[in-house]
Order: sequence, then C-alpha cells, then structure tokens
Amino acid sequence: MKNRNSFTSCLSPRQIMELDACTQCGECLRNCPVQEVTGNPSISPPEKIRIFREFIRATEGVKARLFGAGDIDRTLLEDFTKAVYECTTCGACGQDCSVGIFTQRLWPMLRNEMVRRGLGPLGAQANMPEAVRNTGNPYSRAAAERFAPWRPDIRIAARSDIAYYAGCTGAYEAQPMARGDVLVLDAIGEPFTMLSAEEEVCCGFPLFITGQHDMLGDLVRRLVCAYQGKGIKTLLCSCPCCVNFMTRDWRPFYGGPLPFRVRHITQFVADALGRGRIAVKKELKERVIYHDPCYLSRGVGIIEEPRIVLRSIPGIELLEFSRHGMNSRCCGAGGAARKVFHENAVAIGRLTIDEAVDKKADKLILGCPACYAKVNEAMQGNEKQIRIVDIMELFAAALR
Ligand code: SF4
Ligand code: SF4
Repeated sequence: MKNRNSFTSCLSPRQIMELDACTQCGECLRNCPVQEVTGNPSISPPEKIRIFREFIRATEGVKARLFGAGDIDRTLLEDFTKAVYECTTCGACGQDCSVGIFTQRLWPMLRNEMVRRGLGPLGAQANMPEAVRNTGNPYSRAAAERFAPWRPDIRIAARSDIAYYAGCTGAYEAQPMARGDVLVLDAIGEPFTMLSAEEEVCCGFPLFITGQHDMLGDLVRRLVCAYQGKGIKTLLCSCPCCVNFMTRDWRPFYGGPLPFRVRHITQFVADALGRGRIAVKKELKERVIYHDPCYLSRGVGIIEEPRIVLRSIPGIELLEFSRHGMNSRCCGAGGAARKVFHENAVAIGRLTIDEAVDKKADKLILGCPACYAKVNEAMQGNEKQIRIVDIMELFAAALR
C-alpha cells in the first residue's frame, strides 16, 4: 500500500472524531507505564495522535484534496509504528483523558492501519498468524499439550448450559490458573463442558491487538459454532484478554449477536457464593494484594467480583495498590508488547512487585495469564521477592 492512501479507512467515525478531539493537554501522561520506565516522549498519547493527524492531513487534508496527496517520509512512518507497538494498550491514558478518548481500542486500530501498510507488526508478533493457522495457538504448541499437563481428573460434561474456555495463554503459560479455574468450577458442582483440545483454538485477541485481522472472522465463527453445537448458554473464561475481546469485538467478526453470553469466572464464582452454592470454611491468615488486569478493570469494568471472591476466604486481609480498579497500573505484558519490548515489560512488572513487597503483602494475587507469565519473569533476579498466585489457584486451595 502506498503512503499516500487514506489513513482513516480502518477507523470508526467515533475514532476519527477522537483523533480530532485531542486537545494535546497532556493530562493522560501522568499514568503511562511505558513512559514511566522509559521516559520516551514519542510513545506519549498526544504525540502519537499529533503525528497520526499529520498523516491524515497529508493524505486527506484540504491541500491534499486540491493538489493531490503528499508522500510521507518512511522514517516518520517507521518511528510512529514503533511507538504504537511499544505501548501496552493498557488504556490508562484513556482513563485520564480530558475528552474521553477510548485509547484501549484506538491504539489497536492504528496498529491495524500500520499492518495494512506493511509496517507492522514487529518482531515475533509477525509469526502469530502462521502459528495460529498451523497449531490453533500463537505459541506454536501442540494441541495435545493444551489440557493434558494441568487438567485434573474431573467430570467434563459432553453438553451443558455452561462451557469453560481455558484460552491459549492460560493453557500453555499459566497452568496453575487454568487448573484453579476447573477445580473451582468442579467444586461449585454445576455441570460444565469444554471443547476438545483440537477444537479450542485461539480466541483471536493476540491477532486483533497486534493489528493482524485477516483470520479473525474465521476463528471467531469456528469457536462460536463449536460452542453452539454443545448447546451452551454461558461461556466462562478467566483470561481478561479473552473476555474483553469476546464481549467487545466478537460480534462484528461473527456477523451478528452471539448465541450465548460471555462471563468472567469471578462473576460466576461471586454469584455462586451469593447463592450459597459454595463457601470457604478454612481460615487463611494472610495479607494479600490484588492486581487489577487492565483488560478486566478498565476494559470491561469487572472490579468488585474478584474482591468478593477474595474476601470470602475467612481470615484474609485484602490490601490495595495505590493504583487499583479503573486506575490500575499495567503489569507490563499488555498488547503483545511483551513479545518485543521485553525490558520495558520486566521494568513495569517490577514496579508492581516492589509495591506489593513494600506494602508487606504475603502474596501478590494476579488474575490474568499474561500478567502471571510476565510478572513471574520479572521476579527473576529482582531484589524484592514475593509469592505470586492466581486468584483461582488461591481460591481452589482454600476450598480444599
Ligand atoms: S495505553 Fe497505556 S502504555 Fe499505551 S500510551 Fe496509554 S497509558 Fe501508555
Ligand atoms: S488527555 Fe486526551 S485530549 Fe489530552 S492530550 Fe491526552 S489524549 Fe489528548
């Protein structure tokens, strides 16, 4: 694609208005985790928006309409591409934005535009479509390894109203989390089904977030049809990225309303606690601190349910990070940036670890497989150390 072609064809009317609405006030700079660890001004939201507006002006502005589109310098395009991929898409800037720009979706769509121009994605992110095509997951791991290493011997129904989707990152990179999920579902006692390891393919989020959209329609339709075949009414997931993408974006890729609803596992467990389907009797005298995943809190507004689950454990003392809920700080792994900007991700992850240790927590509780994998990596070689536990891993242990 030539640099002179439109830069707005991937954007919704709302996103075009958002780009126009930015006042360059800089309110959003306060909580950007990447700026915090790199000090790099080019990744700042107003700077990305300012440059993208220049691209639009050069190709679709008044001068371009009168005299033809101008060419855009390749180095400028490459620098912009790096900046938009170095961002973790955590959305903290959108939370602070004085005009309400929904940055958690604007940045991925700007990435999509750069992919269409052959400038993105970056590094290992480019291998993901082929990996998903060949193996069903972005890690190129065998389907035979998807459930076997962690799934305990529990009853999985052939058909049910409820299905559990483990997700690729949970199944391959955060197995204590996926194991905790199914143990808790089993303890609740309502029958649930799962697809086979071959049928349960990637939900599409890693491709979406890196701007590689070509396969998404096929992937989404394949999964929705497979779950439809099992007669489900509710699909449960614990990965915030899966829940976020399924609830916000699956519908257009599927081509209509989904034939079931998607819920996060903490919503289901909080309901089960409220209905008396499950209760923890064992006391756990520990101080724990819970990290809100960006795609769960800012992404879909699930903030209270994980806390209901944690507070249901007798004896537990729940601490809070200085930034929590809608203002939580990214773990560093978001937006597939961890695949390329490893050092940023480790530095950001260590800010979370250090604060948890400074607050004298016994355990750092996570609720996202990407956070789980990256924060565990960030712990290696870090001066301050703390035990990392997934929320369902902890709850399943308390139930035992
Ligand atoms: S989404 Fe997060 S990492 Fe990206 S610019 Fe905004 S605050 Fe920074
Ligand atoms: S807070 Fe919003 S309007 Fe202000 S610079 Fe940031 S993105 Fe632009």
